[in-house]
Amino acid sequence: MKMIVRKDLCCGAALCAQMAPDVYRLDELGYNDMDGQTVPAGKEAEADTGARACPESAIKLVAD
Ligand code: SF4
Repeated sequence: MKMIVRKDLCCGAALCAQMAPDVYRLDELGYNDMDGQTVPAGKEAEADTGARACPESAIKLVAD
């Protein structure tokens, strides 16, 4: 499973990283920095929880 993160939508709310700290990492400005990365094995449900928490719907999870 791969993460697609629209940085143009991301507002730095950081809820993704709060809800799924093992999946999402933020850059030095607080924006989600995981675009194109693969979800770690066994963390798919956590990734989904974090994606759903995003107020901007900036995160999509796609099968790889
Ligand atoms: S919750 Fe959404 S808007 Fe906030 S940092 Fe994460 S991806 Fe960006």
